[in-house]
Amino acid sequence: MHEYSLAQGLLGSLLDYLREHPVPGKVKKVHVQKGELVVLSEWALKEAFSILSAGTELSGAELVIENIPVRVRCPSCGYEGDARYLVEEGWHMAIPILSCPQCSLPAEVISGKELAIVGLGVEETPAEAKS
Ligand SMILES: [Zn+2]
Repeated sequence: MHEYSLAQGLLGSLLDYLREHPVPGKVKKVHVQKGELVVLSEWALKEAFSILSAGTELSGAELVIENIPVRVRCPSCGYEGDARYLVEEGWHMAIPILSCPQCSLPAEVISGKELAIVGLGVEETPAEAKS
C-alpha cells in the first residue's frame, strides 16, 4: 500500500529528527504539506501513521495535512505561477494542467509534487520543581 510506505518514511524521518533535536514535551501534531500532484488518500495516510507510530514517542500524534497548489514555470515565455485547472461540474476535484497558461507549451512543475514535514505541534509538559 502506497500510503503505508509514505507514512513509514515520514515516521522514520521524524523519529531520526527527534533523536537529534529532542522537544520539551509530547508531539501532538505533525504538520505536513502535500502537493496537489501527490496522489494519496489522506485518510489512509493518517490511518497508517497512527498504526505505525503506536509504541513510539509519536504515538497519538495527529497528521495535519495542508494541500499545496501546483505552480509551473514555462521555459518558452518565462511565465511562473499557478497552473490552470480543468474543472468540470460534478467532479470532486480540479485537475491541474501542466502547460503554460500564457502560451500553452509544456511547463515545468516547480511545486506540487512534494510531501514534506513543515512543523511539529508540541504540548509542553509543565516543568516540575527540581529543587
Ligand atoms: Zn509560456
